[in-house]
Amino acid sequence: MAFESLTERLNGVFKKLRGKGKLNEADIKAAMREVRMALLEADVNYKVAKDFCAQVSERAMGQEVMESLTPAQQVVKIVNEELTKLMGGDEPQYLHIKNKGQTVLMMCGLQGNGKTTHAAKLGKYYRSQGRRPLLVACDVYRPAAIQQLQIVGEQAGVPVFTMGTEKPEHIAQQAMAHARDHGNDIVILDTAGRLQIDDALMDELVRIKEAVEVDETLLVVDAMAGQEAVNVAKTFNEKIGITGVVLTKTDGDTRGGAALSVLAVTGKPIYFQGTGEKLEDLEPFYPSRMASRILG
Ligand code: GDP
Repeated sequence: MAFESLTERLNGVFKKLRGKGKLNEADIKAAMREVRMALLEADVNYKVAKDFCAQVSERAMGQEVMESLTPAQQVVKIVNEELTKLMGGDEPQYLHIKNKGQTVLMMCGLQGNGKTTHAAKLGKYYRSQGRRPLLVACDVYRPAAIQQLQIVGEQAGVPVFTMGTEKPEHIAQQAMAHARDHGNDIVILDTAGRLQIDDALMDELVRIKEAVEVDETLLVVDAMAGQEAVNVAKTFNEKIGITGVVLTKTDGDTRGGAALSVLAVTGKPIYFQGTGEKLEDLEPFYPSRMASRILG
């Protein structure tokens, strides 16, 4: 189960605080040092962890804690609120799906992070909301990739548009025409991934974005990759401009670093989280729920 050790560490810090009764500044400082260590161990970006603890300290040194009869509980409340804020605030962020015409979602990311699976998961999700999505196979390098999209598309009950190994930008354009003709209102482009970021991959994604009007450029990142996932998100954002993140494999053995750092480092929200291999294992990302889960 994800976050176990972060949860354990934080609970240890809070337990110590509860044992103290009234708190002074030194207690808060010591606790924040430990919180920072716990965050760093959970692979949270260094600056994010530092800023987070500074923010919590500032609030914890204020009246609401110092004069409270249950100061430790107040600190937990502040940590919960600040964790929520760090991940985007109380409300989940929803993708902007237009009511007229086609909304284009471009899925991108490194190979193996869950791009194809999540293209299909999103198709299934929007289909269950009465939309008529179309999946598009723009990963033309591996025949297996096209086939995989066809398989998961069928499982999701969502049609798949393929044109073999044509140029991806051309496939995207043709898919738009197909979507207009067939009444598909959400077009989900599954693009090629690589094991590492390279210029050819970025150029290809830029060409697709030049060929069709992409509404949401979604980076699919594996939560288990921790800070590395966040670095990837930063680079993709700089090179092609992403609008948000789909954080996958949050059911796995992730330490939490990616979930906690993505927004602060890239400025882009996490829209969805993948919670398993099955196509129904997709949830909107609720920062407050994630914060509560981290606090255990
Ligand atoms: P792509 O190369 O980025 O298109 O990645 P795939 O969609 O092929 O996924 C790679 C592997 O990760 C597959 O075995 C998926 O079943 C698995 N996977 C994808 N999303 C999740 C998730 O949210 N949780 C878990 N546990 N596995 C996932």
